[in-house]
Amino acid sequence: MQSIADQLSSGILIVDDALNVLAWNRWMVEHAGISAEAAIGQRLDALFPDLPTATLRRRVKAALQLQSPSYLQPRKGYLFPVALDRIVDSHFANMQQRIRILPYEGDPQRAIIVVDDVTATREAEARGAAAAEASQRYLELIDNNVMTLGVDAEGQVTRASSALLRASGWQAETIDGVSLEALGLGPPERLEPTADGALPERPVQRADGSTLWVRVRQARGLSDAATHERYLVLQDISLQKEIQALSERDALTGVYNRMKFDQLLQAAISAQARYGQAFSVILCDIDHFKRINDHHGHLAGDSVLKQFAALLQAQTRTSDHLARWGGEEFVVLLPLANTQEAAAAAEKLRQAIAAASWPPIGTLSASFGVAFHAPNESADSLLDRADVALYQAKDAGRNRVCVAAPAEPAAGEQD
Ligand code: GH3
Ligand code: MG
Ligand code: MG
Repeated sequence: MQSIADQLSSGILIVDDALNVLAWNRWMVEHAGISAEAAIGQRLDALFPDLPTATLRRRVKAALQLQSPSYLQPRKGYLFPVALDRIVDSHFANMQQRIRILPYEGDPQRAIIVVDDVTATREAEARGAAAAEASQRYLELIDNNVMTLGVDAEGQVTRASSALLRASGWQAETIDGVSLEALGLGPPERLEPTADGALPERPVQRADGSTLWVRVRQARGLSDAATHERYLVLQDISLQKEIQALSERDALTGVYNRMKFDQLLQAAISAQARYGQAFSVILCDIDHFKRINDHHGHLAGDSVLKQFAALLQAQTRTSDHLARWGGEEFVVLLPLANTQEAAAAAEKLRQAIAAASWPPIGTLSASFGVAFHAPNESADSLLDRADVALYQAKDAGRNRVCVAAPAEPAAGEQD
């Protein structure tokens, strides 16, 4: 019996109900560092002063009375202090133990205490708990700082991150089941990046009605194949949009500036080349504007310029592009307009200006140069022709519209 106990890789000791040691196996010798001779005959609490004696006694008594195994979960994780090899990086200083108390068959006064080393298991549990806590903290970090939206296969929202709820003012309770379209993002199939990798940008509406501009990225590696749930990561680009809007507008009048007009003109030239969409431009210059400044002051001049721009904006179509060309000159790009249509549009502007009242100065007039874009014509050539027409209008007595002569065929165009 003793020799079998000595072979076991668990601690085995036999005690009576007063915790006097009656047997002590080799494992106990090796791990507790107390020889069998020194241990046997001693009370356990004399050998280990920190032992939770009362608890152990109760357990021993329970096992003996019920004649069935009893377990002890030591509060410190171990009953007998056994230092761990410190070379191993561990959560624990001492070996973690599981304590079983078994009635000794045939003797109601004796109990067997079995000590198992469960350090590895507890170690794994502790590491698992630490890892779970770290992932939880990481998820919270993302939830609080990144705007994300969970979307199901039907394009309906399944969840929104705290960061998104905060930025949008949406309620977590009411966002569930709302469609991407209703949020201003939809439809889901239109949220793919373009061929050149640009991510879609969308204006979504905050709870207070204001606009939150976002750039939308489909999160990689997070779509759930079973439920087809996808995640969108939204980046707030409102400030960028605001700056962009400011950078393309003239500060005094609020209409597009020349830089923006140059972009629109290049886009129109490209569209003409690719899709054959014709267009025209109108250059417009206020007549004798210098006199207004001279007689009424520069501030009154500024005020007239603002009113003038507002009138042009009101008298042109939303599909037309109006810009301040500089000073008291404005330019309008009219998509799809031929010479006659552009000339008619200019004439309408001229009459509206002549008919309006201009509070500090009375009446006002402007002169117009109209040019129809010829295929392959450069922006410079087109604007030069419009400018020549404008000066013809000035030379002819102002307050009139002149149409530019058709462009010479571009070099290299003839066969
Ligand atoms: P014309 O009929 O030949 O076009 O005569 P004009 O006086 O309108 O033309 P000119 O080019 O000689 O003068 C334009 C004036 O516009 C000169 C400039 O001081 C004024 N001007 C340009 N930009 C501004 C501005 O932002 N505010 C004000 N108040 N005046 C401006
Ligand atoms: Mg001028
Ligand atoms: Mg002028």
